[in-house]
Amino acid sequence: MNFKKVDIPSIFYDTVEEKPIEKCQLCEAFLLSDHYYFIEKAFRKTEVIYEFALCYHCINKMKKKISKESLKKMENYMKTQEGFLEREKELNSNDYNDQDWLGRCAITQKDKSELEEHVIVGMFEGNQMLASIFPYAISTNALENLQSQLSEKTKEEMGNFKNDLIKPSPELEDIFTKPSPIFV
Ligand SMILES: [Zn+2]
Repeated sequence: MNFKKVDIPSIFYDTVEEKPIEKCQLCEAFLLSDHYYFIEKAFRKTEVIYEFALCYHCINKMKKKISKESLKKMENYMKTQEGFLEREKELNSNDYNDQDWLGRCAITQKDKSELEEHVIVGMFEGNQMLASIFPYAISTNALENLQSQLSEKTKEEMGNFKNDLIKPSPELEDIFTKPSPIFV
């Protein structure tokens, strides 16, 4: 993968503090030194409904709890999405900007303004973001398609995982049960 290192864009900042997220949501490791980590942030229209950062170590731990079959299915789902593959080629020569990387659903290609809910996910190293196929935006519709290919057991694991991370209010439960793009 061809990475461009860029300063962390403010769209991935801690919404309340308005600065880069400092800690892993699970193990509380300080992330801004030299850790590899991912940030997932969900929006309803422009409102942030949840956000978290997870260090590589914690993601790997989580991955071990998900069946290999489901991980493979998630991976294959992304790999077979034409839009997603085209996008990678298209972005290769561009300098990072929020609009090109996050302006539309990477799967359905729908513009963000048309989406009811969407999730963005990015990959980071310390105080830099690694731009490649990440970061990307994905609509809840695309996550629903992905979810329909997963076993009941994995769906449950995904739900439990997010529940452990952040306590959702009841009206957010729907998006909480969607698979986390971090694992794709
Ligand atoms: Zn961690």
